[in-house]
Amino acid sequence: MAGEFDLIDRYFCRQKLQRSDVVLAQGDDCAIVSVDADKQIVISTDTVVAGTHFLSDAPAAWVAHKALASNLSDLAAMGAEPAWVSMAITLPSFDSQWLEEFCDSFFALADDHNLKLIGGDTTKGPLSISLTIQGLVPKGKALTRSGARTGDIICVSGSLGDRHAGLEVLLDKSKQGLPFAKQLEQRHFISTSRVALAQKLVGLASSCIDISDGLVSDIQHIMKRSNCGANIDVSKLPVSPELEAFAQHPDSEYSDAWQYALCSGEEYELCFTVAPDLLESVQALSNEIKAIGVMNESDDLVLHQAGSTLDAKLFGFDHFRE
Ligand code: ADP
Ligand code: MG
Repeated sequence: MAGEFDLIDRYFCRQKLQRSDVVLAQGDDCAIVSVDADKQIVISTDTVVAGTHFLSDAPAAWVAHKALASNLSDLAAMGAEPAWVSMAITLPSFDSQWLEEFCDSFFALADDHNLKLIGGDTTKGPLSISLTIQGLVPKGKALTRSGARTGDIICVSGSLGDRHAGLEVLLDKSKQGLPFAKQLEQRHFISTSRVALAQKLVGLASSCIDISDGLVSDIQHIMKRSNCGANIDVSKLPVSPELEAFAQHPDSEYSDAWQYALCSGEEYELCFTVAPDLLESVQALSNEIKAIGVMNESDDLVLHQAGSTLDAKLFGFDHFRE
């Protein structure tokens, strides 16, 4: 790509944020960071590809936000404090306006989390962005998927389901007249990762995951890694009043808000477990934490409501999924 180094200098080296643990950032063959002896580094990589994860003509600001928010959410799921990120970006052409918007949005979200872009790679080809994000946790204290025990309470943060309803409106314009369709559609584009809340759960939660594929799908990862089953009371699922009104409309895909809450992906809320005696301490952290069920010694996911059991398979439950 002509002017590759100019492009890197102009766009990818302009973050003002400084971190004292960054010894060397862009400009050399590698970046160098230093780490305190009582910390561990947690690392995750995520790629988004035009046409697969977003439409090729999606706004640059949103593409940047989506790429970074999903990485931040992975760090949050481990209870980590964001520190550094590298970006491998493939661009179809040099489009200065696109790059301006992309970088403004990327650095705004990165700055919010004290996250420093320390390096990357820039190539020409079909648009894709691959981020490797790194965060810090106190040694041995990272939240994982494997720590849940029988009797632990299952909790979620925020409210669930809005993203799926938003996508429904986005994909089917005939649903724009449904209650709160516009608001739900907008929520599909905004995701805030639970980075701060997750760090407070370190030492309290026994396991944790971020909801990226949908609650029913993601709780199975905790079940599998922790060798437990789960029992969820769907009437306890936190849902927004807007989603309740939307679901009540006869033209919406599901008739109840909790059905959206079970399958909605890209929520970037947390699903975690906590020993019963620590539930009160966890709920004191935020009024946005709701207890929705309990882990048990089976290997099944049971969804129940008012005493009757629902078929989890209808919402994406599959014994053989990893
Ligand atoms: P090399 O050829 O040694 O891999 P590059 O020419 O790819 O080096 O990159 C030059 C410098 O710019 C490196 O320090 C690299 O980390 C940085 N860099 C390249 N692309 C990006 C990007 N998209 N974001 C951040 N830093 C980048
Ligand atoms: Mg390179």
